[in-house]
Amino acid sequence: MARDYYETLGVSRNAEQDEIKRAYRKLARKYHPDVNKDEGAEETFKGVSRAYEVLSEPEMRARYDRFGEAGVGGAAAAAGGGFQDFQDMGGFADIFESFFNGFSGQPGQQRRQGPMRGDDLRLNLKLDFKEAVFGGEKEIRISHLETCTTCSGSGAKPGTRPRTCSTCNGAGQVRRATRTPFGIFNQVSACPTCNGSGEVVEDRCETCGGSGQKQTAKKLKITVPAGVENGTRLRVSGEGDAGKRNGPAGDLYVYLMVNEDAKFKRDGINILSDLNVSYLQAILGCELDVETVDGKVAMQVPAGTQPNTVLALEGRGVPRLGNPVSRGKHLITVKVEIPTRLKADERDLLNKLAEVRGDSVGKNRKEGFLGGLFNG
Ligand SMILES: [Zn+2]
Ligand SMILES: [Zn+2]
Repeated sequence: MARDYYETLGVSRNAEQDEIKRAYRKLARKYHPDVNKDEGAEETFKGVSRAYEVLSEPEMRARYDRFGEAGVGGAAAAAGGGFQDFQDMGGFADIFESFFNGFSGQPGQQRRQGPMRGDDLRLNLKLDFKEAVFGGEKEIRISHLETCTTCSGSGAKPGTRPRTCSTCNGAGQVRRATRTPFGIFNQVSACPTCNGSGEVVEDRCETCGGSGQKQTAKKLKITVPAGVENGTRLRVSGEGDAGKRNGPAGDLYVYLMVNEDAKFKRDGINILSDLNVSYLQAILGCELDVETVDGKVAMQVPAGTQPNTVLALEGRGVPRLGNPVSRGKHLITVKVEIPTRLKADERDLLNKLAEVRGDSVGKNRKEGFLGGLFNG
């Protein structure tokens, strides 16, 4: 593990700082985990970084030359953590970039901020229960940023051109030196004058005020597929905000909010509802029209149906999302209604029935039974 740092970087013991820098850059570029996915590349990269941390700082290098690993024990021990510190200092990519852009000092290599993808947008869309079941076309109104047509996104008044930013000389970036235990690092950040574009608009486009973009209201027709559920997200590609500097537009995400229905509930691809039948219909059986999402459908309630029995209508449920030919079931829970009031002749018939069956009942109660029980 404790390899010679000079060996790690492949330089001689009396190498100049420039040579060390160059060797490090070459190796870092080769083994950087963002670039090199080979096994062990990250370990090598860490080793290379550690060697550079020590050898790039003259004081530390001198101690290393005299005492070896022990002379930079603190740094070496912290090396693992040092790696971590870099990440804390504003992102590993920044540091990586600062070595290559910051130290290189070659104007041609400086990178100005390129095209930027526009933001994604979110819209909530309410649907009725049946719209979610069967899908269909919906018109929505959105407001998003579009590229200004007057200036084609440049922000400059037609006939004029943006000039090169004087703060960053068109680089779009400014450098800032940061002192760390391992030496001074140059950090690169977007130029505050031109926001990284490298250009400044002097005569602003009157349509967009120089931003190159315009907030625009728009109507869109979207197709809601059959079988969507509450919370289903639809992506409408390219209808988010326009990108900056000819970058691609973001996407629009439509979140579906399905309204509750008075009659139906949903359980995945099945539809649930209740059906009220009289106690006689439950005992003797019957055929009834039941309400489904397809309209009224005739259904047999078999004789002797118990309260809360669940009857199924196959193929009357929700179409499967992506395969609408296949549909779930409509599950009907039978609610048996026991009357709370009886007419006199009804009560006589029931008393007779009870006699036939030999059931013991409160024969002489003249008040309707529930009323009699609770009030009397
Ligand atoms: Zn414009
Ligand atoms: Zn600038």
